[in-house]
Amino acid sequence: MPHLAYVNGRYLPHRHAQVSIDDRASQFADAVYEVTCIANGRPVDHAGHLTRITRSLKELRISGAPSAAVLTVICRELVRRNRITRGIIYIQISRGIAPRAHGFPAASVKPSVIVTARAVAPPSETVAEQGAKVITAEDIRWGRCDIKSTSLLPNVLARQAAVEAKAFETLLYTPEGMVTEASASNAWMVDKDGTILTHPLGHEILGGVTRAAVIKLAKDAGIPVKERAFTLQEALAAREVFLTGTTTFVMPIVQVDDRVIANGAPGTVARTLRARYLAYIAHVTETDAAWNV
Ligand code: PLP
Repeated sequence: MPHLAYVNGRYLPHRHAQVSIDDRASQFADAVYEVTCIANGRPVDHAGHLTRITRSLKELRISGAPSAAVLTVICRELVRRNRITRGIIYIQISRGIAPRAHGFPAASVKPSVIVTARAVAPPSETVAEQGAKVITAEDIRWGRCDIKSTSLLPNVLARQAAVEAKAFETLLYTPEGMVTEASASNAWMVDKDGTILTHPLGHEILGGVTRAAVIKLAKDAGIPVKERAFTLQEALAAREVFLTGTTTFVMPIVQVDDRVIANGAPGTVARTLRARYLAYIAHVTETDAAWNV
């Protein structure tokens, strides 16, 4: 079966799909992206991802990108042509192709658009049932982590540290000891009163699409949620720690560096939210109106 990718107006075999060496994504990481989960052949929170990429483009003043409706058509075509039932869509939009110069190119330069879709197995239930280990590292990223840009070198280094430590993720903390998020997921803890804490939206974190869904699911379940930053010390003493993300769903964390969290088993809140999030995925992939336009 052919594996097709979309590049600047054309559907091409993935292995032949290429962009210019003058694309600003490769020279300056002057590009934004989205990763959406496909389940049952349909996207999870497609509208949320489109809203976020539109915002990222606006924040970086990249204009002339395809509309949300056009991106939807491209995504749908790729999922259909590649016959993906379970997997991910990747969208990347750069400021375009121009001779290398730091300043923006002429307004006539059009953004470059890449969309790929590939089959990926769902995240392991075994890991989720046992709970995962994370390590920690100082957050050395720039001051606009709310923009989902392809400028990901600090995230890459943080994740590689996790890979080398055989850990699931790396929790990032500021010089003041506040946990921001993880290399590719949002971070959460449950305090001694059973309240869920997660870093508030702002320039320090990516506003996760999963984060927004999980806040709503927690509130629906009657679990109190406070969007306030917490320290690494608080996380170590927490009842529960967990992560959320498009490819992670809700992942209970049972060890942070060498410290076991609570009794070392996934907590009730994380397990409840994971179950509710799996049910949410099943529901939204049946009813997603944004995909059907
Ligand atoms: N934080 C960072 C730095 C990320 O890269 C991601 C996802 O890639 C997330 C959080 C989670 O965001 P989402 O739930 O939209 O996947």
